[in-house]
Amino acid sequence: MKRTLLSLLGTLLLTTAAPTVIAQTKRAKKALIDPIEQLKQEAALSVEQSAKLGQEINDMLFSFAELGFQEEETARYLTGLLEKNGFTIQRGIAGMPTAWLAIWGNGKPVIALGSDVDCIPKASQKPGVAYHDPLVAGAPGHGEGHNSGQALNIISALAVKKIMERDKIPGTLVLWPGVAEELVGAKAYFVRDGYFKNVDACIFTHVSNNLSVSYGDAGNNGLISVKFLFEGQAAHAAGAPWRGKSALDAVELMNVGWNFRREHLELTQRSHYVISDGGDQPNVVPSKASVWYYFRDRSYPKIKRLFDVGMKMAEGASLMTDTKFTYEVLGSAWPGHFNQPIAETMYENIKKVGLPTWDANDQLLAKATQIEMEASKIEGLATKLDTIGLPADMPVASMGGQIMRSMGGGSDDIADISWALPTVVLRYPSNIPNLPGHHWSNAISMATPIAHKGIVAGAKVEAMTLIDMLMKPEIIKKAWDYYRDEQTKEMEYTPLVGPKDFPATYLNKEIMTEYKPSLQKYYYDPAKYPTYLEQLGISYPTISETQRAKIKELEAKGK
Ligand SMILES: [Zn+2]
Repeated sequence: MKRTLLSLLGTLLLTTAAPTVIAQTKRAKKALIDPIEQLKQEAALSVEQSAKLGQEINDMLFSFAELGFQEEETARYLTGLLEKNGFTIQRGIAGMPTAWLAIWGNGKPVIALGSDVDCIPKASQKPGVAYHDPLVAGAPGHGEGHNSGQALNIISALAVKKIMERDKIPGTLVLWPGVAEELVGAKAYFVRDGYFKNVDACIFTHVSNNLSVSYGDAGNNGLISVKFLFEGQAAHAAGAPWRGKSALDAVELMNVGWNFRREHLELTQRSHYVISDGGDQPNVVPSKASVWYYFRDRSYPKIKRLFDVGMKMAEGASLMTDTKFTYEVLGSAWPGHFNQPIAETMYENIKKVGLPTWDANDQLLAKATQIEMEASKIEGLATKLDTIGLPADMPVASMGGQIMRSMGGGSDDIADISWALPTVVLRYPSNIPNLPGHHWSNAISMATPIAHKGIVAGAKVEAMTLIDMLMKPEIIKKAWDYYRDEQTKEMEYTPLVGPKDFPATYLNKEIMTEYKPSLQKYYYDPAKYPTYLEQLGISYPTISETQRAKIKELEAKGK
């Protein structure tokens, strides 16, 4: 009762300036706590009460293990769940069958909550087991923990929705999935096709091993993902090789050219390729072959330049082999830039929530996994909260005010959203530190109490930040001031995908068709089993005798 009255006062304070209300609120403040703080505590409590739902969503997505653009079960399950909870669903957005929006509420502000949903090829792994033990050998698996972010967003959104309904707080929540993030295949299309046009701010969530947020230039690379398809002429490889024009030779020559040129490229670039088609069999000169490149660098112009060099290599290779080539853009991402006012608001809530309390079993699994992966530090899970992440282009005092040059790194197409509207990425501690990434070992914690606790901590931060954004309109205003006056002052967003490019939704189809029947046997059934670990009959944690001995040895040394 007290709570309801206080939160009502909070709402009234925003909508009217009646002196009696202000006086009452002041009294409330003195007597108890700030009404907005009160709402935030309520939201956090409500999140805690939804921990079970968070665990179910997380474990369910883990068991689906779907690759980019093939997130069919994931989409069906999440949209069904959100629909049941009163959200209006738009399915198949931006030409992607597995993309959707779930909308609830009325009026401004419109706040979008996103998180990736796809997994990693060949990363299948039993959760809670600290060594390689795939659920289905060769199958995809959540080796980046993309099964957890939607669980976080949904339990925080439901907590805030409940408060908004009760106190009639205006605002709209839009939940959405990062489809095919591993292919950076979707978000630039969401922006291009106008799905974020009327959104005031976006909170994105991504698994990590600490609770953190950053602002400004994220210091990472953007990229363009391009497949080069060569076409030559088939011939009997022994009987009449002179009549053949090998498309595979073109692919190999392009790669040789690129690898020589690599020495003369900027140090911030990262480029890599796979031969996606190398022909059929040795006795037939390959008439078709293709190679798929990621060209990464620190800025839009640099990425474009890298792509231009790639085109030259392809042209050269086609001249040398008398073959023809075409290319297809399969994905893209800008380098990230995140919003300072929202990040600072969020970081205050991160400090209030703090890291989860890990128990001995959580730490045992983490240390055993670090030992298994020969990590640089065998330190278990994070117990010290991260500081707020600062811009990569910020002058460093200890370097006499010079800017430390970022050497680049990975990419995430959330950056394209971050250039379209004020955006932050909330990182939450559901994974084990010091692992290689994009790897089966990164799936080990992802359907265990480590992931579940990380989700609850993250959801509390998100829910509290949502309350801040709904109740204090100046946050959104400042967020747009920063976006306009600082972020985009000298840099204009031009998408790396053109008007004629389309999402490559056919990618991964064959792999999923091959593995889905085997994976289906392991889909999580929450009606029968409290957790996925129990369904699989895994005792937590499962670690080897060697790992146990090594941990004892380290502990004896006081490490
Ligand atoms: Zn990711």
